[in-house]
Amino acid sequence: MREFQATSVNGFMAVGEPFVLKMAPETIKEVKTTDKKIEQKRFDNALKTADKELAILEDRASHVDDEQSRLFQAHRLMLKDPELLKPIREKITEGISAESALDAVSQRFLRRFEKTDDVLLKTRKDDILDVVNRLLRVLRGSFHVRELPDGKHIVLAKSIYPSDVFTLGKNKIAGIVLKNGSIHSHVALLADALKIPFFVGLDDNYDVLTESETLVLDGKSRKIIADPDTETLKQYKKHISDVSKTIDRPEDISAVTKSGTYVRVSANISSSEEAKEAVFQRADGIGLFRTEYVSLASDDLPDEEHQFLTYKTVMDQFPGKPVTIRTMDLGSDKNDASSNHAINNPALGIRGIRHSKKHEDAFRTQLRALIRASKHGRLKIMVPMVISEEEILYVKNLLTDLKDDLSDGRTHMAFPYEFGIMVETPAAALLAEEFAKHVDFFSIGTNDLTQYTLAADRLNPDVAKIYDHRHPAVIRLIETIMKAADEKNIPVSVCGEAAADPDMLDHFITFGIDELSVAVNSIIGLKERIHEHE
Ligand code: PEP
Ligand code: MG
Repeated sequence: MREFQATSVNGFMAVGEPFVLKMAPETIKEVKTTDKKIEQKRFDNALKTADKELAILEDRASHVDDEQSRLFQAHRLMLKDPELLKPIREKITEGISAESALDAVSQRFLRRFEKTDDVLLKTRKDDILDVVNRLLRVLRGSFHVRELPDGKHIVLAKSIYPSDVFTLGKNKIAGIVLKNGSIHSHVALLADALKIPFFVGLDDNYDVLTESETLVLDGKSRKIIADPDTETLKQYKKHISDVSKTIDRPEDISAVTKSGTYVRVSANISSSEEAKEAVFQRADGIGLFRTEYVSLASDDLPDEEHQFLTYKTVMDQFPGKPVTIRTMDLGSDKNDASSNHAINNPALGIRGIRHSKKHEDAFRTQLRALIRASKHGRLKIMVPMVISEEEILYVKNLLTDLKDDLSDGRTHMAFPYEFGIMVETPAAALLAEEFAKHVDFFSIGTNDLTQYTLAADRLNPDVAKIYDHRHPAVIRLIETIMKAADEKNIPVSVCGEAAADPDMLDHFITFGIDELSVAVNSIIGLKERIHEHE
C-alpha cells in the first residue's frame, strides 16, 4: 500500500481499477515535406474529420449538459478561425509537414497564454490544446480515444480533454487522475458536473502508478492510495456505498394535470447505462433509445448478440413499462467519425432509414436483435427519418420475414411489439394521415422537424436563432400530426428538445399529447410542470 497527497478538484471518492490512457506523443520533430499540395490537402481533410467528430460530441453532450455542448460548438468554430489556420497554412507552404506546422503554431499560441494568471486565458489554452490534439490524432490516423471496456475504470492520463470524457463513455469512468492538468480546465468543470472524482497535477507520482494496482481516490483528504490493504479497501468501499445511498432519489410526482390529463414522461437515452439513471429519475418508460450511439461507441457494428443484450438490459429495468428503441439513425451529423468522407449537407443525405436500407444486412441484424428483445418487456420499435409509405412497408415486411425466420423451430422468439415511426420530416408530418394507417404510434422528432421545416441546420451556430421549435410553422405541423393520429386513434409522443421546453407544454397538452420524452435530468422538472398545469 502506497499513499500520497494530490490535488482533488471536487472532493469525490472512488475505488477502482486503473485504465491507462495512452496519448499521442507530446513533442513532434519537425518534418520537411516536398509535396506542399498533398500536405495542404491532408490538413484540409483533417479539419473536416475533426469537425465531424466534434459535431457528434456536441450532439452527445447536448443531451447531458448545454454548456458542454456549446464548448464543442466553440471548438468547431476554432477549426474555421483564420487566426489559427492562416499561420499553419503558411508554415506548410514553407515546406514542413502538416503535423509539424500545427505543432509549431500551437506552441506559439501556448507560449502566449503560458505567462498569464488569467483563469479565462488559461482555459482558452486548454481549448486550443484540445483542438490541436484532435487534429494531430486525425492526421496521424494512428491514435484515437475509444470507448472504455465494460465496467467502471479510473482513467490515468497525462492530460485529457472534455471531448475524451464523452468518447470514453462518461458512465464508465469511476474517476480521473491526471499527471498534468489544471483545476480550472473545462474538463475539471465537466467532471464536477458529472460527479466524477478528479485529481490533477500528480507530476512524479503519476509515473509510479500502474494498471495492475487498485486505486483509492479520496477527494476529501486529498490523497490517492495505490494497492490498498484489505481493511483500507473495505472501509472505503463501505463509505462510498453509504454516501451513494444518501443521495436522495427524487420523489415521484404523478404527471397528471389539475384537470386530470395524464402525460407519460419518459427518458431519452443513448446507452444501456443511462437507463439506470432514468429509473432513478422516475422515468415512466423509455421514449427514445438512440441506438446509433451503441454502434458509434465501438469500432465495428456490434453483432446481434451484443445488441440484443443491450436492449434486454434496458428493458429489464422497465418491467411493464414501454421502451421505445429507435433503429440506428446513422448518416448526417452522427456519421462514423473515422470516415474521411466529406459530404455536403449530410442532414439531407443518406441518414436514418435511408442509411438502413442501403446497409440492409446491418439493418437485419438490428431488427433480429430487437425481435429477440421483445420477449423481455413492452417493446416499441421505431424508425427515423421516414418520408414515404414505401419505407414504412419496407421495414414492416422485413420485420415479418425476420420474425418468421426467428420463429422457425423456436416459436417462443416472436413476441408482440409495437411498430412506429419518428415524424421528423415535413413530408411525414404532411402525410401523417396516410402513415397513421400503417403504424401503432408516432413520435415527433422536433429537432429534425424544426431544421427541415425552417431550412436551418441544427448544427450551424450561425442559424441558431432561426432554428426555433416555437416557430408557428413547426407548431402547425405538430397540430397536423396530432389530428391525423387522433383520427386513427394512435398515440403520439414528442421526443425532441421541444418536449422539455416549458413554453411548449401548453401546446402539447391542448393538442392531447400522450407522452413527452426528455433527457434524464429533465424528467422531474417536467413532471412538476405537468402536475401544476391546469
Ligand atoms: C429529433 O430529431 O427530434 C430526435 C429526437 O432525434 P435526434 O435528435 O436523434 O435526431
Ligand atoms: Mg431526429
